[in-house]
Amino acid sequence: MSWNGKRAVDYRRIEKIPDDWGTAVNVQSMVFGNMGDDSATGVAFTRNPGNGDNHFYGEYLINAQGEDVVAGIRTPAPINENSANDQSRNLATLESAFPECYKQLFGYQRALEKHYRDMQDIEFTIEKGKLFMLQCRVGKRNGVAAVRMAVDMYKEKLIDANAAIMRVGPNQLVELLLPMIDPKAESATSPIAKGLPAGPGGSKGRAVFSSKDAVAWAERGEKVILVREETSPEDVDGMHKAQAILTAKGGMTSHAALVARGWGKCCIVGCADIEIADDNKSFVTKKGLTIKEGEWITLNGTKGLVYQGSLGLVDIDLATNTTYRDLMTLVDKVRLLKIRTNADSPKDAKKAIEFGAEGIGLFRTEHMFYGEGSDKPLFLLRKMIMSKTLDERKAALAELFPFVKNDIKATMEAMAGRPVTIRLLDPPLHEFVPHAADKLQALASDLHIDGAELKKRADGLRENNPMLGHRGVRLGITYPEITEMQVRAILEAAGEILKAGKEAYPEIMIPVTCTVAEINDQKVIVDRVYKEVCEKVGLKKIPFMYGTMIEIPRAALTANKMATTAEFFSFGTNDLTQMGFGFSRDDIGSFLPDYLTKKTLPADPFQTIDQEGIGELIKIGIERGRSVRPKLKVGICGEHGGDADSVKFCHRVGMNYVSCSPFRVPIARLAAAQAAVEDVLAKKSAAKKPAKAKKPAAKKRK
Ligand code: PEP
Ligand code: MG
Repeated sequence: MSWNGKRAVDYRRIEKIPDDWGTAVNVQSMVFGNMGDDSATGVAFTRNPGNGDNHFYGEYLINAQGEDVVAGIRTPAPINENSANDQSRNLATLESAFPECYKQLFGYQRALEKHYRDMQDIEFTIEKGKLFMLQCRVGKRNGVAAVRMAVDMYKEKLIDANAAIMRVGPNQLVELLLPMIDPKAESATSPIAKGLPAGPGGSKGRAVFSSKDAVAWAERGEKVILVREETSPEDVDGMHKAQAILTAKGGMTSHAALVARGWGKCCIVGCADIEIADDNKSFVTKKGLTIKEGEWITLNGTKGLVYQGSLGLVDIDLATNTTYRDLMTLVDKVRLLKIRTNADSPKDAKKAIEFGAEGIGLFRTEHMFYGEGSDKPLFLLRKMIMSKTLDERKAALAELFPFVKNDIKATMEAMAGRPVTIRLLDPPLHEFVPHAADKLQALASDLHIDGAELKKRADGLRENNPMLGHRGVRLGITYPEITEMQVRAILEAAGEILKAGKEAYPEIMIPVTCTVAEINDQKVIVDRVYKEVCEKVGLKKIPFMYGTMIEIPRAALTANKMATTAEFFSFGTNDLTQMGFGFSRDDIGSFLPDYLTKKTLPADPFQTIDQEGIGELIKIGIERGRSVRPKLKVGICGEHGGDADSVKFCHRVGMNYVSCSPFRVPIARLAAAQAAVEDVLAKKSAAKKPAKAKKPAAKKRK
């Protein structure tokens, strides 16, 4: 049965459709579009599914069956001028070839869209001059079109604000954030071929010519573009693994175009300028240029242009996209959750604000020791780590202090008074020590320590289970001077910003805690340093909060104790998932695929919150925390903060905010709004049932 065929199984896995749903069958009497030149068949959409334009859009073939249109074997003709493209411009439109049928079809499509209040995908056949409607269903659309249609239909009063918000899948927004080819690089070169723009955005990769190769190459970490004559449902796995798809044949309603559109993948179809070699190892362009397997190509899926080589990609400018902004205005009105970002540089902070972030939920202090410009602070950190005595360590910390302070200050300034949660040093110290013998030797000579002695000290830091080892608050308990230096840096940075007449609001966060005694221990340091800093900068007070991450099951279970000192909780669901399941977050890759294939787990718990297990710990943590501190501020800063289903869960359990990477911020905003709308809809449907006690209206969370 087709339900169990490879293509159906692959498709369900990709689209997360359960295997046990089963399929339905409609039995209809047949009409024929291949009864001569007075017969035809076609596929049409009440609006353009590629860009959302409010124009009737579609393709048809004279003397053909429906399968011929979707298979992409013949170039279909446009139903009207609005549907014409470079390949079909010279073909007669349905409007001119069958004016009466077109008029009828046009009327039907208007009525259908009005009735269903959504864009419809319509199939029709003309048999000997008579129009038959075969079927209609809600049409698939890419993210750009989904946003445009939702906003337009709202403005046309076809749907209300809640419906508009629910119309766009959070992951469809990703498409609006898709990179595009750097305009400078694009204008400096010429395309080698042109096809139809079936899936937007820019993408690049090595050309491969079979779905099997696409899967194999992608699995070994290569970025590939799948180049095919045309695609068939057997290719879905390769199409999914590829960065983008390029086909020589097919129209905007061909298989490749439909599937790519559903996924929001960059895709060019009907690229008649390329001819694929018989051995399926290269293609040659009209001008005679050969592109062999493994060579880089770059696609502009928005315009349908193919380029040789690897062109630079840049992010798109959301500031000028008015439909996106209109949708986000609706979204921000209804959502109750605040959306913050995980950022640790002024650059990321600014990007996140552009995306709508309302604060930083996780500033990982250790990131200043990696990447560009980190040589000096990393050297000083290593010096501190390798110190033998308290005095040596304090001296190294004093040298490190200005770097830490300036780093935090720059990001706090970029956030302009929005809350910034700064987490104290988390990783085990051994992580910062060079591993290679030559690098360790070089460090020894820089630090003027004997090589063998340094190796001994480094070996002394090695742990069997570093993730469960000397990390997080445990470092602060052993080395209070490290906590002291960081807290001083945070408060002085905030104090100086306030003194300069600007705003700053730090939230000091203690990681990897499992008992309130740890939080209390560090609080003594914070209180002392706070007084000293206020005096030093000449301020009566520096507003800030003191809180903890909840990353260990014990912390969640004892949340009523943790919250006696902690003013806020931030659920670190990466570690909470690791410690709740006992799955190493770094090693799960070796067995997770088996768990997913056998359905031992429904999904990767590091991507989407395991609501029945880890979610229960979160619920308990919030309930117990708020039982002693009703206004306890609660958020999440694990990777799940950018996953739509997890964001909705966070809304339902009453968190105040979610925090995610800058690029996921718009997705989190939309998911939060959808969660609020789902509440309203659930209440409405409950209200239709026999009346229960009224609940007070939801209030905006702080
Ligand atoms: C977490 O554990 O969820 C977290 C945010 O911390 P990290 O990923 O840095 O361990
Ligand atoms: Mg963590």
